[in-house]
Amino acid sequence: MKIRRIDIYRVEIPLTVEYGMSGGRVWRSLDATIVGVTTESGIIGWGESCPWGPNYLPGHAGGVRASLDEMAPGLIGLQANEMDKLNQAMDQLLAGHGYAKHAIDMACWDAFGKSVNLPLSVLLGGIYQETLPCVASVSTNDAQKVVENVREDREKSGYSIFSCKITGDLSKDFQVVKAVMEQAEPHESYIFDANMGLNLPDALCCAEFLSRYNVVFEQPGKTYEEFHAVRKRTRVPLMMDEIFTGMETMWRIISDKTCELINLKIAKVGGLSRARLIRDICVAHGMPMSIQCCGGSEITRAAIIHLAQSTRPQYVHSIWDCAELNGIKVVRDAGEVEEGVLRPSGLPGLGVAPDMAMLGPPVASYL
Ligand SMILES: [Mg+2]
Repeated sequence: MKIRRIDIYRVEIPLTVEYGMSGGRVWRSLDATIVGVTTESGIIGWGESCPWGPNYLPGHAGGVRASLDEMAPGLIGLQANEMDKLNQAMDQLLAGHGYAKHAIDMACWDAFGKSVNLPLSVLLGGIYQETLPCVASVSTNDAQKVVENVREDREKSGYSIFSCKITGDLSKDFQVVKAVMEQAEPHESYIFDANMGLNLPDALCCAEFLSRYNVVFEQPGKTYEEFHAVRKRTRVPLMMDEIFTGMETMWRIISDKTCELINLKIAKVGGLSRARLIRDICVAHGMPMSIQCCGGSEITRAAIIHLAQSTRPQYVHSIWDCAELNGIKVVRDAGEVEEGVLRPSGLPGLGVAPDMAMLGPPVASYL
């Protein structure tokens, strides 16, 4: 299982919508880096890192490829199935940059699964569920358009969990919340995500407004301290996302009881190996998660599915189909959200392989 070569591919993924978040940020396409790790026995494991542009989280697509260029030569010859040792080796080669290490970690998990002919969900703990409940991500917009988008997601793909955006313009945001909740069906659940776009007074005001409804308020403040201040002074359930960066935040949340749910994005915490550890701690502390990633193709989506599938169902609030807004498919016939759920392929490893024509030639190779 020694790593023989590492190939890096770049894929520009257009989005089907202009996707907006608080602070007036808008994205039209994503820059994905796809990694193929080939072992001595000829198994190819696939991984991916696809930041949601350069201004959503710290990290950017150029940073992924520069980090891989720094690490890849030092990884040749290491065992692709010794996951902890591999992550330690990456930490020796490069401090931080977990979102880049995530691509190598994913590719090696895929190779490991293929080598033992088992889906990753088995290696990550076992298969608890065959279908994963998906959350629809709804871009910023005026109230009427947001309601239309929710309706479309419900009718087309059977979604019953929706994440709508808080822009920071509270008078308009409250119209959106009101309009969305007026059309909500009893079995549906709603998240309103501020994406760090509110200052503390506005976050408190928004939390007060949302507490009239049975909803979750995601990432109200820019800092842990602001978030904690919101938690202490409101009663609406809170989900932490952007400021949840890994184990250090995990310990603080457990100690302070800062939130009720975590948005566990695999890339944000440095890959599947680290996300599995955090997942296990969340379960031990009774903390449900929305298991997601920052963006990416059906390859990243498969990693999300396997981590969620191997998590006790009562702790999986939802997963996000990170490819839901992609204008191209990197993996052929990888399936879609139907009746609000995704199903794993059941094949070994990640269970998906990219269409090589979509990848084009590698932008870098290490051997
Ligand atoms: Mg979020």
